[in-house]
Amino acid sequence: MHVYSIPLRSRFRGITQRTGLLFEGPAGWGEFCPFEEYDDDESMPWLACALEAANEGWPAPVRDRVPVNCTVPVVSPGKAHEIVSRSGCSTAKVKVAESTLADDCARLEAVRDALGPSGFVRVDANMMWDVDTAVAAIKAMDKAAGGLQYVEQPCRTLEELAAVRRKVGVPIAADESIRKAEDPLKVAVSGAADIAVIKVTPLGGVRKALEVAEACGLPCVVSSALETSVGMAAGIALAAALPELDHACGLATLSLFEGDVTSDSLVPVDGYLPVLTKAPVPDRVAEFETADKTWTERYERVLAKLTASPSSSPDRSLPG
Ligand SMILES: [Mg+2]
Repeated sequence: MHVYSIPLRSRFRGITQRTGLLFEGPAGWGEFCPFEEYDDDESMPWLACALEAANEGWPAPVRDRVPVNCTVPVVSPGKAHEIVSRSGCSTAKVKVAESTLADDCARLEAVRDALGPSGFVRVDANMMWDVDTAVAAIKAMDKAAGGLQYVEQPCRTLEELAAVRRKVGVPIAADESIRKAEDPLKVAVSGAADIAVIKVTPLGGVRKALEVAEACGLPCVVSSALETSVGMAAGIALAAALPELDHACGLATLSLFEGDVTSDSLVPVDGYLPVLTKAPVPDRVAEFETADKTWTERYERVLAKLTASPSSSPDRSLPG
């Protein structure tokens, strides 16, 4: 087992350092990387995803490459322009609602300028707005961006998403509403959103995420949870196995990291990532390895919970 800690290039979702644990099983390497503030219950699907990669491997892909978007954190317009231009992607996802509306709009104008008129701009508000704020912000941002592809999780609840959806022409995507639901298989998202954002790691692996995608009954966008290339390979495996994939996926987030655990880093070329049959070997983990015992303890505690859980299948709950 290896515990890694990698600095991020800019602050993202409140963190400046990404940490997690890598382990190998009979089918390959898996990554266990719940965010620091998550408790053991919320961390269970994250471990199920890592165990699937290590012990079982993934279902057969239906495509051999996956289109991806670049991600623009809360940075200056100049920096945003540079990130988009350098990425080679024709879709950009811009984090909004963490600064002023004027700052967000200036960043969106820069992103549109970098993409050109044929590119797609989407924004993610991470549940930060109430309905009225969302409606006003989305209208202003749609204008600044020269048209938004969709807005992701403008508000917290499904009722609020549905209310916003009735008041704006921009499509709504649900993210937290799905993966943080008590039962992601049962969340009635179709009246509240046009697009489902599906994340393999918090949903418990490729097979489980495919079930959630089917249950949502909406076009899906696969996004990362800021994994290294080891965990990212599972997200790509999900995007590769979905029957339909009409949008670029949020799986190019390794560019937010200062480094990676492998020399086969999953960085997009011309806006696409290759589909792999197993995670790349973490042959460069020594550069970022830490002796933080809390991660192995966390792994043991969550594994015990997962093994005891009636909903987890026995072959997924045993370590390799
Ligand atoms: Mg999101």
